[in-house]
Amino acid sequence: MITIIKKMIGGVPVPDKKELSEKSPVGFAGIPDELVLFVSQHIGASPVPLVKPKDTVKRGQIIAEPQGFVSAALHAPTSGVIKAIEPRFHPVQARMCEAIILEPDGRHEPVEELSPVASDLDSISPEKIRAVAEQSGIVGLGGACFPTSVKLTPPEDKHIDTYLLNGSECEPYLTADHRVMLEQADKVIFGLKALMKASGVERGIVCIEDNKPDAIEAMKQAMSRYDGLELAVLSTRYPRGGEKQLTQAVLGREVPPPPGLPYDVGVLVSNVGTAYALAEAILTGLPLVERVVTVTGEGVAKPSNFKALIGTPVSYLIEKAGGFSGTPGKVIMGGPMMGCAIKSLDVPIVKGTGGILVLTKEQAAQEPILPCIKCGKCIDACPLGLQPLWISAYAERGFMEEAESFRAMDCMECGCCAYICPAKRPLVQWIRMAKSEITSRRKARRQS
Ligand code: SF4
Ligand code: SF4
Repeated sequence: MITIIKKMIGGVPVPDKKELSEKSPVGFAGIPDELVLFVSQHIGASPVPLVKPKDTVKRGQIIAEPQGFVSAALHAPTSGVIKAIEPRFHPVQARMCEAIILEPDGRHEPVEELSPVASDLDSISPEKIRAVAEQSGIVGLGGACFPTSVKLTPPEDKHIDTYLLNGSECEPYLTADHRVMLEQADKVIFGLKALMKASGVERGIVCIEDNKPDAIEAMKQAMSRYDGLELAVLSTRYPRGGEKQLTQAVLGREVPPPPGLPYDVGVLVSNVGTAYALAEAILTGLPLVERVVTVTGEGVAKPSNFKALIGTPVSYLIEKAGGFSGTPGKVIMGGPMMGCAIKSLDVPIVKGTGGILVLTKEQAAQEPILPCIKCGKCIDACPLGLQPLWISAYAERGFMEEAESFRAMDCMECGCCAYICPAKRPLVQWIRMAKSEITSRRKARRQS
């Protein structure tokens, strides 16, 4: 069954710029001289290192073991020697974090016990699939980085009836998920069926934006080999791929405000990259040690899609994409709407990195910030029905209680409001500041 969906609350029509890299097939980026593996790459407790400096490791070997229920294992992406365990700057968390530094030996030798877990879904139990997700360190690859084994074990009072596979990839410029669907459709669908089996869900819906017709065709063919799968083709509009937006558009169910999650309305959502990673772990035994990354933007010579080892430095990937074209103005980890600008190219990619975007000097030039003209465009654009002009105005003046009362904490930082604002006001920055301040105050209140 195919459903065509056009409706969406808020959002903005952003030029998608996917033409820069969408025709670039995924190629192996290679092995850099050093891999920087942050111990914590996900939501939840940090795993604890199992290795020490001078230890030799092989590809796929576990090097940090999870702690507690919400945690994920970390594995060596290639063979080599552990050079150090030391703090390095984490590009997403924007602070120094413990990292395992691996010096590859170039042999890319796998650990002996790396072997397929199962060749089909009939011969693997739901418990075993959840165990594979846990032991393979699989986390949500759409950017949220929530441990997949935990997502597959929702609280008992939640009655899940639908699994949404998120192939929207609504962030402009990024084409990693598009290429995965095009080149690995069978494995992605196998992964979706594994996710459904592990969570006991009968209904699966593959959700793709209509700007990827070739991926829609590839996925349609792969889906035809299974029962119980539907396809939802959505009109292209940012932020179509947010899990709340997807749940609303495809099923008409409204996810409650934070801490509400799709499972509160009977839905689980996973990214296509996550489904592919789970399929790889089951079919080959390979844990999550690499992922597809788009290196793109007008500021790189040859926008490309790479399969890159986790921990590969950004500088290495830009070099592989032909280096800079002209003088770069800004390098962003992720897409232009939700990504974070990075100051140093020495930082590595992490499990949640779907793209590296290089903007030219002209593109990155800051336009002057003007006073708010109360046009209301930011309110119309907000997919969550918030009032960004008031939250940001209060945050800018330090009135955090007022910002909180205008639901600052519900903001998903999608950037639609700032994108549409004719006065070029940095609305998301102020809202982010309010969220951080409100969180600190709540913590202080709990401790007092
Ligand atoms: S879009 Fe910008 S100018 Fe218009 S109301 Fe919102 S903050 Fe003010
Ligand atoms: S960044 Fe926050 S306030 Fe702005 S549009 Fe997105 S959800 Fe709404």
